[in-house]
Amino acid sequence: MSKFIFVTGGVVSSLGKGISGASIGKLLQLRGLKVNMIKCDPYINIDPGTLSPYQHGEVFVTADGAEADLDLGTYERFLDVPMTKKNTNTTGTIYQAVIDRERRGDYNGVTVQVVPHITNEIKSRFIPFEKDFDVTIIEIGGTVGDIEGLPFLEATRQFKTERGRENVLNVHATLIPYIASAAELKTKPTQHSVNKLREIGIDPDILICRTEKPMPKGMKEKLSLFCSVAPEAVIEAMDVASIYQLPEAFEKQGITDLIIKRLHLKPRKKNDGKWFKFINKATAAGRRRITIGIAGKYAELKDAYKSVDESLNLAGMSNNVEVKVKYINTQKDEIPAALKGLDAVIVPGGFGKRGIAGKIETIKYAREKGLPFLGICLGMQCAVIEAARNQAGLKNADSCEFAPDTKDPVINMMEEQKKVKNLGGTMRLGNYEAKLKTGSIAQKLYKKSAIQERHRHRYEFNTDYVPALEKLGLEVTGWHKNLLPEIVERKDHPYFIAAQFHPEFASRPMKPHPLFDGLVKAAFKNKTQNSGE
Ligand code: GLN
Repeated sequence: MSKFIFVTGGVVSSLGKGISGASIGKLLQLRGLKVNMIKCDPYINIDPGTLSPYQHGEVFVTADGAEADLDLGTYERFLDVPMTKKNTNTTGTIYQAVIDRERRGDYNGVTVQVVPHITNEIKSRFIPFEKDFDVTIIEIGGTVGDIEGLPFLEATRQFKTERGRENVLNVHATLIPYIASAAELKTKPTQHSVNKLREIGIDPDILICRTEKPMPKGMKEKLSLFCSVAPEAVIEAMDVASIYQLPEAFEKQGITDLIIKRLHLKPRKKNDGKWFKFINKATAAGRRRITIGIAGKYAELKDAYKSVDESLNLAGMSNNVEVKVKYINTQKDEIPAALKGLDAVIVPGGFGKRGIAGKIETIKYAREKGLPFLGICLGMQCAVIEAARNQAGLKNADSCEFAPDTKDPVINMMEEQKKVKNLGGTMRLGNYEAKLKTGSIAQKLYKKSAIQERHRHRYEFNTDYVPALEKLGLEVTGWHKNLLPEIVERKDHPYFIAAQFHPEFASRPMKPHPLFDGLVKAAFKNKTQNSGE
């Protein structure tokens, strides 16, 4: 029988519930258990696909084409288990399913209510992995006390009663704030937040206490007394330099054995410590540092490029260098002045016209000066526009996304797409295959000739322009079905490669993505050459 761990959050949002849940998942996985994770987001949007990055950060894309919360990216990176549409739920999808059923007449004339109909639907979303996984960890988004989170918490309560305490654990992540004037860490907000959970019938089994200072002696006991949680189940979560250090910090406090005991789990092996060792070495201080720019329009919002940032970090970890990321605002910053001191630059994905000129300027600079460059999705489209404008001299080269009146735009909409009124349905989402040209940089990096990568875009490189731009050095080396260009690269450059897909969703610790690995290596080479080392 599969076991379930629910992760809720209290006091404030952005506590790192996703990272805490994923760390627990990693620890169980390191004991040979099969772990999957689910996110429940209480907002009403069907998915975050239409949300501005200012709301919840980047939209993570799964291989099967779900547009999901960025926590799914954390789950994939920690567990290396592919996320799917079944790993993500919102209030919107739950109500939609219930209302569709109501319209079909499936409820046989009864009044449809939050309890039991919505809660039943929610509970059905907790169990898709129970056959194939030993443990499912379910993160409930938001903070205890939010009105919109109530149906999820109620479903959690019912689920624990139905399945029994030996099969379901509640982990509550909370904040222990430090009050500088009193020079003290305070437990009261946690007490209140646990009481709030109790009011709705949930008693936490484990407390994860986020704190910026070490908890003083006796604090675990105090929290245990006031919150009715065993002292060994009060886990300190001090701020860590790298999120990947959190599993070991938890392990040292005995959380894995505690969970194994409480849930009567049967681990298949001992933790051999290899993962911890890799993380410790890869995040150690004193590594050589390189600086890589991310030139986009959400420069002030780190979460908007979460997976790109993590991919750089992970590629750095595998190459034993520290990657410092510098955000460049292509709308406001002076380019190329803002690119000074960079060892490489990325133009990431994006939507809309804002900041495009700065992105094209960035790419022109990278091309001319031999600065290692990786273009992602919109970044590839801009690389194509840059070549068409500046090398081929096509003054009005543009994308039909920003310049709908352009005749024969270099970035175009496919004929079939034009027939569909509601463009939302015409996005290329999720995995598509690309065949790589023999002898290309891409093929050398991937070390294979066919790849599957995740997409999230509408527009395509207009193939009418491929021969002319190839003559100018911008070669298409990845194709989907000989129809859609997937990768462009330049051989006359230290590292210039751009992809129509999003490589950033597929980076893992110990398995950096080939395109990021290549970029970090090229950036390091660039730095050592320029400094004359
Ligand atoms: N806006 C572009 C398109 O829809 C690029 C999308 C992206 O970068 N994710 O094709």
